[in-house]
Amino acid sequence: MTSQPASEISIVVPVYNEQEVLPDFHQRLSVVLNTLSFASEIIYVNDGSQDDTLAIIESLYRDDHRVAVVDLSRNFGKEIALTAGLHKARGDAVVVIDADLQDPPELIPELINEWHNGYDVVYAKRSRREGESFIKKATAHGFYRIMQRMGHVKLPEDTGDFRLLSRRAVDALNTLTEHHRFMKGLFTWIGYKQKAVLYERDPRQAGQTKWNYWRLWNFAIEGITSFTIAPLKFASYSGLIVALGALSYGIYFLVRTLLYGNPVPGYPSLIVIILFLGGVQLMFIGILGEYIGRIFTETKRRPLYFLNQYLPPRAESDEE
Ligand code: UDP
Ligand code: MG
Repeated sequence: MTSQPASEISIVVPVYNEQEVLPDFHQRLSVVLNTLSFASEIIYVNDGSQDDTLAIIESLYRDDHRVAVVDLSRNFGKEIALTAGLHKARGDAVVVIDADLQDPPELIPELINEWHNGYDVVYAKRSRREGESFIKKATAHGFYRIMQRMGHVKLPEDTGDFRLLSRRAVDALNTLTEHHRFMKGLFTWIGYKQKAVLYERDPRQAGQTKWNYWRLWNFAIEGITSFTIAPLKFASYSGLIVALGALSYGIYFLVRTLLYGNPVPGYPSLIVIILFLGGVQLMFIGILGEYIGRIFTETKRRPLYFLNQYLPPRAESDEE
């Protein structure tokens, strides 16, 4: 036995309908954790799965004393599931990882290494995206660019939620009570020393991704509206520009009518301008709505989630 300080690592895994991969995932994760010289707990957060995921988690719980179960009362979405797991995590460092084996558990020792080097947030950065369409890669790239331009937080590109957080980083995250949790942004927003570790991302092993373009679009809006009010400023400035344009156009018409009389043309330009202004106004009302909607949900101050049950890891020795 090495005489490491008695630190403990928590692994937080949000799971939603992952019955096909979960046993494999647990197997691969266990192999990695067994090589570590300190204790660990694996927190499976069942995010209201409709398949046999919960039954699988419970059998893992019976077989492995390191497993803890957080069972949410319904599907709350990955960001909330993650948050619930972070609330329950007791480790000195917490690793957040997807269950679909797109995040290789084998990288965890490397993350822990950087943590020992004094970093608080060690995130896994993809050096390659296999099995994802060109369009998904391109839209993801575009999204990070836009976020960097508009937001005040610089999101690391090609980074999922797979990362290690030190205790104080987790404590910092746990103080955030907002409902609209754009985790990728929040991980960066809390600050502290952050460090990237490169890895090659595998295609999903089995099962279906829960992301479609509509969800990704909403995810992007979430990211933008929870980190920047730039669209609101954009709205005011475009309003100003359009108004100035309309004013000069009006002056031009006034002068022209005074000089040449009024032959009553201009119906097409009139319609174009009306439609254009109507569209611009509706769009900006929509942007306002996005923010007001968020104010609305945040002011209700509802709890983030409800638990069906929580099974803490059974206290046992390290060895199986
Ligand atoms: N997940 C979840 N709740 C949801 C959707 C997903 O807990 O409502 C979990 C899912 O089981 C997986 C992780 O979040 O462990 C990532 O989901 P997915 O693979 O669908 O996302 P992607 O890798 O495509 O970003
Ligand atoms: Mg995935």
